[in-house]
Amino acid sequence: MRRPIVAGNWKMHGSRAENAELIENLLSHCPENLRAACVVCPPFVYLQEAARLLRGSPFLLGGQDVCAESHGAFTGEVSASMLKDVGCEYVIAGHSERRLLYRESDQLVARKVHAAHGKGLQPILCVGEQLADRDAGRTHDVVARQLDAVLELCGTAFLEQGAVAYEPVWAIGTGRNATPEQAQDVHAFIRTRIAARDARIAAATRILYGGSVKAGNAAELFAMADVDGGLIGGASLKADEFLTILAAADKCG
Ligand code: PEP
Repeated sequence: MRRPIVAGNWKMHGSRAENAELIENLLSHCPENLRAACVVCPPFVYLQEAARLLRGSPFLLGGQDVCAESHGAFTGEVSASMLKDVGCEYVIAGHSERRLLYRESDQLVARKVHAAHGKGLQPILCVGEQLADRDAGRTHDVVARQLDAVLELCGTAFLEQGAVAYEPVWAIGTGRNATPEQAQDVHAFIRTRIAARDARIAAATRILYGGSVKAGNAAELFAMADVDGGLIGGASLKADEFLTILAAADKCG
């Protein structure tokens, strides 16, 4: 049985005071003996303090992005070993905001996954189509292209501990989530595509859904056979919403 993952992407939100309050609320209401892995991904500058506040708790830490290079003259970038050094275990790679706003190519995303895995970070590889792609019936083509670029460079080994997050761009931050059936269709497609390279790893790969997941829709999304948790944006900034989503993930699988 696959262990679900719920990852909270805080994006560029928060402050030291707000983060401390959010973490305190998460820790004081978090159920014991969680089956789901629970990851929070604050902005880079807050990682070290979040690591301190989360120490000894079931919550794990993740970065929102990583540099494809290991070190050197890359002003503004943060390497995989630096993320490891401050306590991260996971890192998001290829979020649609990085792909669209910062023009990250499929190949760059693949190099980021490679760099992260090489340093022992578990990548959460994001894939997903834009609305125009879905309307034109190109969802599977887009997801296959994004996934294949990574599998070509990295193989499938990073999926043993890492994850793929299916995040339809039209559902991110819009309040319009994919239906459970739409999510299941793409998740099953992703699993089949991985299975073409390695059936054992495909069966073990956690495929997360992301895109306007809330307390009110998490259970029905996570009930689908190939949905193994979620990558959560807006709702991860509210402790009660995030904990309800976490409880729903705990029951999936
Ligand atoms: C995200 O940031 O990856 C995301 C899915 O955001 P939201 O949950 O707000 O749609």
